Amino acid sequence: MAQIFVSHSAKDRDLVALLSRAFAATKVKGVFEEFEAILNGPANALRIAQDVRASNAVFVLLGKNVEDLKHTRDWVGYESGVSAACALQTNKDVWVMESIADMEKLSVVIPHLRHYVCFNPANDWWQGYLTQIISSYDNSHVLRTVSAGAATGGVLGEGVGALWGAGVGLFLAALTAPTKPAGFPINCPQCASSYSVHLAEPRMRCPVCNSRLVFPTPDGAA
Ligand SMILES: [Zn+2]
Repeated sequence: MAQIFVSHSAKDRDLVALLSRAFAATKVKGVFEEFEAILNGPANALRIAQDVRASNAVFVLLGKNVEDLKHTRDWVGYESGVSAACALQTNKDVWVMESIADMEKLSVVIPHLRHYVCFNPANDWWQGYLTQIISSYDNSHVLRTVSAGAATGGVLGEGVGALWGAGVGLFLAALTAPTKPAGFPINCPQCASSYSVHLAEPRMRCPVCNSRLVFPTPDGAA
C-alpha cells in the first residue's frame, strides 16, 4: 500500500481534517506526524526518518500554528531535509501545502520541494484536487492488474464471457491509473528555485525564499 508522510501542527485541525477527508477517498495511507510530537524526544527523529523513507511522497502542511511554534521551524526544516535526502536517492516528491489565507502570514521556508500548493479550503473543488494528488501515488492498480491476470487463469474453462470480464477488469485498471496533477512550472525570480505551482489565485509566496509573487492576469494592467 502506498503511503504519504504528512508533517503538520496538531493545532491546525481544520487543515488536517481537510487533508484527512482527501485521503479517505483514496487507497493511500496518510502517515500524519505532528510537529509537536516530534519535539518530544530524539528517539522520534530516527522513526521519522524511517517513516519518510517508507513513504512514496512527503507533504508539508503549513498553517498559521506552524508560524507560532518556536521550535517548529527547525523541525520543518529537518523533516524536509530528510525527505530531500530521500528525494535524491529515490526520486521522492515533496509537496508544500498552505491555504491562501494562511499564506499571507506564513514565513516558514522549506529548502527543497517539487510542488507548491496554495489552496482555498472554502472551495470544495480543492478537496477533489487534493484527492487527485494523493491518488496519483496509489500503486494498488498494479496489484489489481496482477490479480485480474490470476483470475483469468482460474476461469479459462468457463467460457468467453468470463474472459471478457477479466479483460474489462484489466481495461478499467488501466483507465483508472491515476495521473498526478502537474501544476505549472516556475523559476522563482528571487531565488531561482524551480518547482511546480498549483494556485487558487494568481499570487503566492515562494516557499524557498519567502518572496511574494504576483502573476499578471489577462484583464490586469501590465
Ligand atoms: Zn524564491
